[in-house]
Amino acid sequence: MTVASSWIDGALVKTGGAQHTVINPATGEAVAEFALAQPGDVDRAVASARAALPGWKRATPAERSAVLAKLAKLADDATSELVAEEVSQTGKPVRLATEFDVPGSVDNIDFFAGAARHLEGKASAEYSADHTSSIRREAVGVVATITPWNYPLQMAVWKVIPALAAGCSVVIKPAEITPLTTLTLARLAADAGLPDGVLNVVTGSGADVGAALAGHADVDMVTFTGSTPVGRRVMLAAAQHGHRTQLELGGKAPFVVFDDADLDAAIQGAVAGALINTGQDCTAATRAIVAQGLYDDFVAGVAEVMSKIVLGDPADPDTDLGPLISAVHRAKVAGMVERAPGEGGRVVTGGVAPEGPGSFYRPTLIADVAETSEVWRDEIFGPVLTVRAFTDDDDAIRQANDTKYGLAASAWTRDVYRAQRASREIHAGCVWINDHIPIISEMPHGGFGASGFGKDMSQYSLEEYLSIKHVMSDITGVVDKDWHRTIFTKR
Ligand code: NAD
Repeated sequence: MTVASSWIDGALVKTGGAQHTVINPATGEAVAEFALAQPGDVDRAVASARAALPGWKRATPAERSAVLAKLAKLADDATSELVAEEVSQTGKPVRLATEFDVPGSVDNIDFFAGAARHLEGKASAEYSADHTSSIRREAVGVVATITPWNYPLQMAVWKVIPALAAGCSVVIKPAEITPLTTLTLARLAADAGLPDGVLNVVTGSGADVGAALAGHADVDMVTFTGSTPVGRRVMLAAAQHGHRTQLELGGKAPFVVFDDADLDAAIQGAVAGALINTGQDCTAATRAIVAQGLYDDFVAGVAEVMSKIVLGDPADPDTDLGPLISAVHRAKVAGMVERAPGEGGRVVTGGVAPEGPGSFYRPTLIADVAETSEVWRDEIFGPVLTVRAFTDDDDAIRQANDTKYGLAASAWTRDVYRAQRASREIHAGCVWINDHIPIISEMPHGGFGASGFGKDMSQYSLEEYLSIKHVMSDITGVVDKDWHRTIFTKR
């Protein structure tokens, strides 16, 4: 059993909080045991990040890039270790961890190794005849980061790596139920040459360690990925000190199938989009909005594909769907599905938890749901797709936008005009056309509305961790500057 701990100032350290066991949700067995951090450990980690900041901030872009490029290589070499940790602590299928989580993280690190050397500024020029103006982009400073349990490695990478590329130092608090890959990332970063203290990991609970980090006076920025209610609490804590925040929150993605769509492609896309990571994905397809003429065939097709999904040991490459993260979370998902018929929903397939160990739940399709129903409006975060019909294109767009969230959406159509209209009118940070889920390091990820603000991934994410400074230099050398007349006339 791994003995994990917190990572502060370049080393694993003993923390004095309560004993905590990381559980494999597929088996209920213990994976790792360690002492949680306490708020005092947050102070140590922040002090370490503060002390390390000047050196890292002043490192040249090429020096920072070299460390990140080495980290990408080491993470790639450590693929099997990272996959094993991710699978055992989250229960995600090994195919997903091997083909998505780890290579996606490696590619993201690699992208920012390059982006670190592309800090562009606007032209330096004489916007006033007597001065040269130039722009400096400077690291924001010490970044506090709080991440969720659904994609522990990717969420850590998306926050930590652009911050490091920008010259910031970081204290990250992963979800205490999934800390392993974040700790491994810190160790690999040290092996890659990242100076001590530039990246620190505190493995504590949200209520004390997370709150202490979000509200810490000596950080400069707080970035958060997680649920909308907790994100707002984090923002409030950071607001006490006026700290910059960036929030990636919940989602309830619409999946709009117009009447000219390729029905087979939409059916497959809906199942893949709804079931990825057992539906514990903020961009997962959750609300299918389907043209009346295709509705019955879509429902039947999705139910058929879902019925063939293989649940089982996440370490088995033949397994399609792993368990939910915990028994508590499964009870929450099951409760929402059980209440759906009371609100008019028809459970077409699924809605059952298989016998045996592990918090497994069958892929579930609920048709005919009411627009006001809980399963249509609230995040379920499980392998559950809900479906409603629409009457015309305006109704489809209206239903797609009838949500407080705005993270991701997709539109399925072979009509280029409809596709363009949908991409313009759907209010979400990402709109896919004839696909749902793919992401890429060069392009931004981030939401609108209750899904938060700011971007992960891409050059836009680097901007989150940089402050823009205007430098204005007098180029005349004269004592009596022309504009002084405005202030005084006699000397
Ligand atoms: P969560 O909000 O419960 O927890 C997220 C993190 O916040 C954890 O590390 C937790 O310990 C910490 N935390 C809890 N209370 C805190 C407090 N008072 N102060 C500071 N930190 C605190 O979310 P979760 O259940 O871990 O993750 C699932 C949620 O994350 C879903 O809502 C999902 O949509 C969202 N998510 C969003 C994105 C995105 O990019 N928008 C990506 C992944 C997950």
